[in-house]
Amino acid sequence: MSLSQPPLRSQQLIKQARQHIPGGVNSPVRAFNGVGGTPRFIQRADGAYLYDVDGQAYVDYIGSWGPMLLGHNHPAIKAAVLAAVEQGLSYGAPTEVEVRMAETLARLVPSMEMSRMVNSGTEATMSAIRLARGYTGRDKFIKFEGCYHGHADALLVKAGSGALTLGQPNSPGVPADFAKHTLTCTYNDLASVAAAFAEFPDEIACIIVEPVAGNMNCIPPEPGFLEGLRALCDQHGALLILDEVMTGFRVALGGAQAHYGIKPDLTTLGKIIGGGMPVGAFGGRRDIMEQLAPIGPVYQAGTLSGNPVAMAAGLAMLEAIQAPGLYEALNAKTAQVAQGLKTAADKHGIPLTITQVGGMFGFFFSREAHISRFEQVTACDLAAFKRFYHLMLEAGIYLAPSAFEAGFLSLAHGEAEIAQTLAAADAAFAQLKA
Ligand code: PMP
Repeated sequence: MSLSQPPLRSQQLIKQARQHIPGGVNSPVRAFNGVGGTPRFIQRADGAYLYDVDGQAYVDYIGSWGPMLLGHNHPAIKAAVLAAVEQGLSYGAPTEVEVRMAETLARLVPSMEMSRMVNSGTEATMSAIRLARGYTGRDKFIKFEGCYHGHADALLVKAGSGALTLGQPNSPGVPADFAKHTLTCTYNDLASVAAAFAEFPDEIACIIVEPVAGNMNCIPPEPGFLEGLRALCDQHGALLILDEVMTGFRVALGGAQAHYGIKPDLTTLGKIIGGGMPVGAFGGRRDIMEQLAPIGPVYQAGTLSGNPVAMAAGLAMLEAIQAPGLYEALNAKTAQVAQGLKTAADKHGIPLTITQVGGMFGFFFSREAHISRFEQVTACDLAAFKRFYHLMLEAGIYLAPSAFEAGFLSLAHGEAEIAQTLAAADAAFAQLKA
């Protein structure tokens, strides 16, 4: 079926979906609110491709929002899941595969001396912050504007007016009282963090940060930023939480902490460690993790945590990604796409700035040559992004339907898919210029 035909079945399904699911989706960004138009309902996926219910194929740059590092339907992960299913779906009792998972995490991410499995990134960050608060006996914590750490109450907080104010909820349903301990600082601006510590000495339990910000497009840390956060935490007795839900096993085998050489006190993981199953994890220093129930006073639990099918998928993923040269290949493919977008944009005189770290990349419709701040992202040309988005979609290229999300490659993206992507981009930029 030709890609220019309207997605009839998707159109029918979204109408039907809206009857019984708010917005027709189980997570807001899937509704295409950021770009308009009809979200594609997906029937199946394989390798670098998604196939929708109208029979159209798309080269996928979302990868289920990160997990599909090896491409869809990877044989090793599928085999591990099928074998686990044969043994029963869930026991609510300890299993050997959980021990192997915790050992593997400690080996691949050495700062994670101990870890605990959960079912989502949201649970991981929420639990890590509770633990940091319990460990330090302090209530406040610092996050950064433009970073996303899941939808727990204390994290759905925006900066107040002025550089340093107490947080304000950015969703109805979050009591102001729950947000008042959240301090929101400016990403890549150490002075804003130093100011928070100066204003609240001895009250800040932790800093939580995306070591490469992937929820405001893709913004790498400026040199010295993560090191500075580490130093400020040490100076003030606060813990450093690296939220590696997105960057973990995507920017390097040991995550962003290996890539940048930063040792956090706690790390949160998700996405890739589940191989596509619903999984999250948090872990870190032994003395901190031992504060968790049942050996410590900080409560945290989960009926399906460490689920055997999910653990099997995750372990198969973690085994596969240790193949020599895998991250070099991922990095090279991602650079080829990001650089290719830039070259095509330049050719047509479209101002575009790109970023890339390992297997994640960003592109900004902006005249600014270097983008490192949230306000630069919000100032980008959103109308140009939307047009580009739909031209690419029509050409069979499935990008994140929002100008505020990072793009992801997989090892299954080959020369043919990359060539198709860059040819589509060339044609799209030509149309944007016209
Ligand atoms: N932290 C980061 C850095 C994320 O990108 C996300 C989700 N995109 C989360 C936490 C929340 O994870 P989940 O959607 O699995 O709850």
